[in-house]
Amino acid sequence: MPEIAAHAERLTAEFGGAELASFRPLTFTALKTYAPNPDEAVGTPLQRVGRRGKYLLLEFPPLTFVVHLMQGGRLKPDPKQSAKPRGGLARWVFADGRALLLTEAGTERRAGVWAVAGDVETQDPVLGLGPDAETLDAATLGAVLSQHSGRVHGVLRNQQALAGIGRRLANEICHTAKLSPFANAAKLGPDEVERLAAAIHTEIDASLTAERERDDMSSSKDRPGAVHHREGETCPVCGDVVRAVEYRSYTVNYCATCQTGGKVLADNTTSKFLK
Ligand SMILES: [Zn+2]
Repeated sequence: MPEIAAHAERLTAEFGGAELASFRPLTFTALKTYAPNPDEAVGTPLQRVGRRGKYLLLEFPPLTFVVHLMQGGRLKPDPKQSAKPRGGLARWVFADGRALLLTEAGTERRAGVWAVAGDVETQDPVLGLGPDAETLDAATLGAVLSQHSGRVHGVLRNQQALAGIGRRLANEICHTAKLSPFANAAKLGPDEVERLAAAIHTEIDASLTAERERDDMSSSKDRPGAVHHREGETCPVCGDVVRAVEYRSYTVNYCATCQTGGKVLADNTTSKFLK
């Protein structure tokens, strides 16, 4: 989640050190925890905004607000501080008068906030996340993959296996590693694991660099890539056409020449039988 990581850096630069004056959920479901009372953070300066997996961590030690943006969520400076902001879920107001607002586009209301006291690693919702993908070397990645016999594309997105990779990065990582997205993760050879580990770092670094040049979090359409959502376009590596296998909630994009020895896995019309 390079867009989350870069956004955390921006928020730390802008709001780090600001003392919390109040935290208010704006809907009944925005705050996912009953205890501790978020008011325990009032009067504490924001140490930093961190990231773990897909979560933003607003750290007011010893209390941390863990924020999940989901697809349509945004955490942004809130100069207006209107009483009923559109899509508003929660607001942090600082002693200097500034504020941060959590919003979510659409009607799903899946974004949310957890107030966590102490070590976030041992408590919901961070508990159970795999190691952050960018921290893995090939040996550690191999150990993780050996325990997951699913398709590589799915295991990469499994946050309990390794954290921080979404649908776009999974497509780009498999392409850069020259691996079939449908290869069995547990049966990859040492060379393939090496390539996958290198591709994870290459793709995360490239995305992080692009995100850091922005003033705000990108939309998925702005994010760079060779194959993701580029069905029918030309593979920049080999010139073959980029192909797609569609699922209900995501699309696997790949290049047959680069990744599957020329084998076409399935097209849009037949892929529903692959579920
Ligand atoms: Zn190619």
